[in-house]
Amino acid sequence: MPVLLYNTMSRKLEVFQPIHDTEVGLYSCGPTVYNYAHIGNLRTFLFEDLLKRTLLLSGFSVNHVMNITDVGHLTGDGDDGEDKLERMAQKTHESVWEIARFYTEAFFKDYDALNMIRPNVVCKATDHIQQMIDLIKRLEAGGHTYVSGGNVYFSIDSIDDYGKLARLNLDSLKTAVREEVEEDGNKKNSKDFVLWFTKSKHGQQAMMWDSPWGRGFPGWHIECSAMSMHYLGESFDIHCGGIDAIPVHHTNEIAQSEAATGKKWVNYWLHGEFLLDETGKMSKSKGEFLTLGLLIDKGFDPMDYRYFCLGGHYRSQLKFSFESLATARTARKNVYERIQNLLSQGAKQIELTSTAALAYKAAFLEHIQNDLGTPRTLADLWGVLKDEALDPSEKYSLCLFFDRIFGLRLDGIAAVRAEVFPQEALDLLARRTEAKQARNWPLADTLRAELDAMGYLVKDTPSGSSLEKKM
Ligand code: AMP
Ligand code: ZN
Repeated sequence: MPVLLYNTMSRKLEVFQPIHDTEVGLYSCGPTVYNYAHIGNLRTFLFEDLLKRTLLLSGFSVNHVMNITDVGHLTGDGDDGEDKLERMAQKTHESVWEIARFYTEAFFKDYDALNMIRPNVVCKATDHIQQMIDLIKRLEAGGHTYVSGGNVYFSIDSIDDYGKLARLNLDSLKTAVREEVEEDGNKKNSKDFVLWFTKSKHGQQAMMWDSPWGRGFPGWHIECSAMSMHYLGESFDIHCGGIDAIPVHHTNEIAQSEAATGKKWVNYWLHGEFLLDETGKMSKSKGEFLTLGLLIDKGFDPMDYRYFCLGGHYRSQLKFSFESLATARTARKNVYERIQNLLSQGAKQIELTSTAALAYKAAFLEHIQNDLGTPRTLADLWGVLKDEALDPSEKYSLCLFFDRIFGLRLDGIAAVRAEVFPQEALDLLARRTEAKQARNWPLADTLRAELDAMGYLVKDTPSGSSLEKKM
């Protein structure tokens, strides 16, 4: 079955076809490590994890590269403001290197807790300064740069398709030029952007490197172009990130990459929509923001947040509230309980052969391969769990198959349950179920009492009976 993905470049659903047969090159813009990731950032990384899992389940191999922005990301996208890491270092009196190391570790702690498959390559901007300098040299040789006020700028007028991803309106750009020329006399066009700063915004910049244009540091956009091409080649399959990257960051990445190579750089652009809080887009600059750690402190499991995100399509905004997270938790726990229930009825992982089970599998694949339709796949999961016509092993096996996308650690439930219940208890439960079916209530009660004496409670639910260890 083909995988359909919505390409921001064409604004259409397209059948995904990698450049190299079944091998996919995937680049995602990684975190800026000056603070904890908020749960909005994590939503974007979760969407990328779902994309990767969908490609893997569809038979592709994926080479996933993610950068760590540890230098050059200013507080404003338009080259204004201060370096985010430097600002944090000044506030906390720690070194920028220390800040970057601490928040990179914190980021991957969240990444693992949310059961995201780690990228094949994680690359730090500060380890790839030479690749960035080489790329700027190439742009300089091609006549795409100019030096002004001590900085090296990319000239957007040196190419004829600037802004194609964002479909920027050139007329409104011209107005913007007039407005901004007064503010930044260094730029020939207000949309020009810095490739290399030699004149730091605040002379104490700790991270500086020698370059042909003087000692300084790279602009933010150049890092993704340099590192993605270094690891994935001059043209590759998919580039993704949050929707806010479209108008400036990804637009500038495309401009400089294609100006340098003269080739189409990326075939598919995918963008995740925002997580909103009560006041609008969740952002770090708002001061107080929600982290995964905070959700855990409030008693939630990281899988509750994963389940919550699965409930919204990645291209739709998703509104966060603790009430909706609690609803996701209830549903997620209900799934776990039903699976425990199946296991205590002796469910095993089997090969699926019945028409009904295969139909569920096909529907699930159709939904996820249709631009990652996760809300519909959750409905598939519930359909399976509630379907009386499927036997426990079929249900369990379908759940495990679905979990290759969901990543809700449903396979972990098996291990826990197998340890907890001895065969003797499971046999008693099976005999009790038979007794109930035969309406032999006295025997059913006796068996329940036996289980109770062994330390197990019997829980009866509409879909069957299960065991619970007494606390
Ligand atoms: P940063 O660490 O600031 O570079 O952001 C990491 C990723 O999170 C980027 O791809 C952003 O586009 C994305 N992002 C930022 N805010 C939100 C939000 N409220 N909801 C979803 N994604 C976001
Ligand atoms: Zn990037």
